[in-house]
Amino acid sequence: MRVQWEDIPPEGLEVALEEVGDLPLKGPKGSLEEKMRLASPVRGKLSLKREKRGVVIRGDFRCTVFIRCARCLKEFELPISEDFESLYLHIRYAPQEDEVELSAKDMEVGFLREETVEVEEILRERIWLSIPMKPLCKEDCRGLCPTCGKDLNEGDCGCPKEALDPRFAILKDLKLSLKG
Ligand SMILES: [Zn+2]
Ligand SMILES: [Zn+2]
Repeated sequence: MRVQWEDIPPEGLEVALEEVGDLPLKGPKGSLEEKMRLASPVRGKLSLKREKRGVVIRGDFRCTVFIRCARCLKEFELPISEDFESLYLHIRYAPQEDEVELSAKDMEVGFLREETVEVEEILRERIWLSIPMKPLCKEDCRGLCPTCGKDLNEGDCGCPKEALDPRFAILKDLKLSLKG
């Protein structure tokens, strides 16, 4: 869904996100997040308001995404709840080095290439930002045994623990994630 800046009335415009159907979520190649996808539709709204040089976007939405646990590599549903307010300026107003002043200091500032708001783009970006670096299926996920690869959440594997080199564990982790 795309909103032209000129179509935003002075009092602002509300976009119900229920109208946003499919939202393909693609991550950087090779990352764990590559496989992330929506598990439940986005619910909530965006409020758009014109500013002299851009648009203030206020958003409040929830959804869940399928993502892989950074420790055990199992896919799980991560709930996302976002409440944000950002000022999006047209790229031509990107501040010069000598211009530090931006209209709202406390507000995050983003940039748009055209005078349109791509609703899906904004959502995608916000969902990315809210995903932790190391998503965990549960706080105390025990991960995989670096020696035999068994999911330790399902019980101990019996491998000796003391000889483990943590650097080796990371390598093994990587290998597994590439395979999957
Ligand atoms: Zn896990
Ligand atoms: Zn083991």
